[in-house]
Amino acid sequence: MKVCKTIKEIQDSLKSEEQPIALIPTMGALHKGHISLIEKAKSECKTVVVYVYVNPLQFSPNEDFNSYPRDIESDIETCKGLGVDFLFTPESSEVFPDIEKEKKEVITPPHNFTSLLCGKSRKGHFEGVATVLKRFFEIIGPDKVYFGEKDRQQLYIVQWLIDEFKFPIELVSCPIVRDISGLALSSRNSYLNDDQIETAARIYKALEIGKVNIHSGIFTVKKALLESLVYLSNYPEVKVEYLEARDKDSLKEVDNDKKHDFYVFIAAKIGNVRLIDNIEV
Ligand code: AMP
Repeated sequence: MKVCKTIKEIQDSLKSEEQPIALIPTMGALHKGHISLIEKAKSECKTVVVYVYVNPLQFSPNEDFNSYPRDIESDIETCKGLGVDFLFTPESSEVFPDIEKEKKEVITPPHNFTSLLCGKSRKGHFEGVATVLKRFFEIIGPDKVYFGEKDRQQLYIVQWLIDEFKFPIELVSCPIVRDISGLALSSRNSYLNDDQIETAARIYKALEIGKVNIHSGIFTVKKALLESLVYLSNYPEVKVEYLEARDKDSLKEVDNDKKHDFYVFIAAKIGNVRLIDNIEV
């Protein structure tokens, strides 16, 4: 595996590589969720590129950019062990030589994808995500990109970006990897202590309860989500930011009598740690 730090290095290296080229964008501190994306890419593509870049544009000033978990030595070992061909770990100055200019020229995905769910509280987040992804798509020129369904709202932004800028790229979405308790794996779980990890598993439990209640036919969507909130109120350390049912195609609110074919999304804080999850109903 070659570790590249500069754009020139990665571009020169990729010139002689076989297609299809897979790209797995990450912010590092790799765990089994990331690993599942890499394994899928390995099984489908000749050349696999992983990047580790903690994107300053997607954090607002009050968020955890500075303290975000970073463990590049361990990430290098993980990627080597998985047979990754290239690990791209550029400095910010390499990706955005003029970050102030970049901040003024961020890509703006459609409001109907960015103004709801995580976009409501994380102002500018998806604009930052789209801006950095466009930059990496241009640098690497991948044939396929791999993203996790844990960040399901992000998938809508990525597909929009691909369509809007006519990138010849296929988006591959990968199922959420959970630990045995149901907790969705996340780099941010490392901020939690043992008790909080146990409590955090309730977030997924609440989603499952909602799904069962909707499928049972007795509950409307709204009533089922209320029941899930009642369940979570037994764990006052879990501060729910939103719990919402959204249409699969449009992310619009769903009809209250709907029983299938939509997603329920949740964001909640435990202490200062913001966690997200979702489930298909
Ligand atoms: P991150 O490093 O958190 O930006 O995540 C990089 C990629 O890994 C994103 O596409 C995430 O959706 C994906 N990912 C993170 N956690 C998981 C998980 N538990 N299961 C599946 N994919 C994940």
